[in-house]
Amino acid sequence: MKSSLKHISILGAGESGTGAAILAKKQGWEVFVSDLGAISDKYKTELQTAGVAFEEKQHSEARILDAEIIVKSPGIPDKAPLIVEAHKRGIEVISEIEFASWYNNAKTIAITGTNGKTTTTLLTYHILKKAGLNVGLAGNVGKSFARQVAENNFDYYVLELSSFQLDGMFKFKADVAVLLNITPDHLDRYDYALSNYIFSKFRILQNMDENCTFIYCSDDLTVTENLKSHHEKVRLLPFSLQPLSGEGAFIQNDHIHFNIQPDPFNMSIFDLALQGKHNQYNSMAAGIAARVFEIRKDIVRESLMDFENIEHRLEFVAKVHGIEFINDSKATNVNSTWYALESMSNPVVWIVGGVDKGNDYEMLEELVRTRVKAIVCMGKDNAKIHKAFSGVVSSIVDAGSATEAVKAAYLLGKKGDTVLLSPACASFDLFENYEDRGRQFKSAVREL
Ligand code: ADP
Repeated sequence: MKSSLKHISILGAGESGTGAAILAKKQGWEVFVSDLGAISDKYKTELQTAGVAFEEKQHSEARILDAEIIVKSPGIPDKAPLIVEAHKRGIEVISEIEFASWYNNAKTIAITGTNGKTTTTLLTYHILKKAGLNVGLAGNVGKSFARQVAENNFDYYVLELSSFQLDGMFKFKADVAVLLNITPDHLDRYDYALSNYIFSKFRILQNMDENCTFIYCSDDLTVTENLKSHHEKVRLLPFSLQPLSGEGAFIQNDHIHFNIQPDPFNMSIFDLALQGKHNQYNSMAAGIAARVFEIRKDIVRESLMDFENIEHRLEFVAKVHGIEFINDSKATNVNSTWYALESMSNPVVWIVGGVDKGNDYEMLEELVRTRVKAIVCMGKDNAKIHKAFSGVVSSIVDAGSATEAVKAAYLLGKKGDTVLLSPACASFDLFENYEDRGRQFKSAVREL
């Protein structure tokens, strides 16, 4: 007999699905979790302890569809037959972040963009934490938002949101939203239409009102063009590498100027913990978000100076016989690699390649011509990279593993050079994920 409780089905029993299940159970839902793959022992134990029904290695359609709400892991595309069927039956399909937001009373800072999300999220969290706020960190990083809403009592959350999460969000309202940039990515999930992807990113603004703040990159034409057609009720705070006249943050004379009332201030870009133009953007975005919550300017300044870099993002690995090795494995698209190359001051031996997501290498040509002395292709199919750069760089070699790539790069380099792993591609041909790729790279460097 069906109970009178409201039913919720949760697809995927990773961190976000399990967190959603724990929260749903606590809120009195009848919960069913289903994962097409195997569920890890850790999450199985948690589900059992919470008294949540679950299945693995299958989707029992009838049971899943017997629900008012389905919480879908961001990895499952909207076109999956089960999701199409759920929509047909009028079942609400939402993301874990959306579900958690229904029960959240804390203020939220939501951060999205094609690149720089994790860095900016962690930077913002670092500033708020250092200021002594009772703040949680969620989204793509760390523990799920839902789990924390169920188990903690934070006053603020810094949330990293991908476009896939935003696609499953409807009533969620951020107090402060940050949009870092929009460049083509994941288009396979958006019918190969950039406009769909842009629309998805702009969902971060939905439901915001005059008490909310939108922080965005005004150098990004895709962002500024599209902002016009979205509602402008919110307080707008842009950031730019060019001087701005109104409120916001910008760079002038090698200083970031935080022009946020009532207390503008500035700091040298050379004092930033994270170097490179892209990190000037990320630092401005995080600094503005902190100032919106009136964090003292010396705390903002100090935090932007003492932040410790995160693994796989332009991470310094070691210097071997005067050759520096940098791990930027998280650069999985052309735009992020552009910023990595742009921030290099030594001659570069560039390790690139992997699963191409429809890359257009043309935008890298000028930087590669001026900064790259040799290329090591690390992927199963390197034809496109050879084609793009054979007239630009004289030595291009192939490698079939991280060890081979590091050895080849080491032989091509000399004292004063930098070996940069910044693949501009996904990692699934040779590695489990970008973390695995970065770790294998680092251990190969340490074995030199
Ligand atoms: P995300 O979480 O959006 O994938 P990360 O902060 O993990 O972004 O950074 C991923 C890569 O993108 C980094 O290795 C860096 O090379 C590049 N990157 C970081 N911030 C930016 C930015 N603001 N604009 C462009 N590229 C960036």
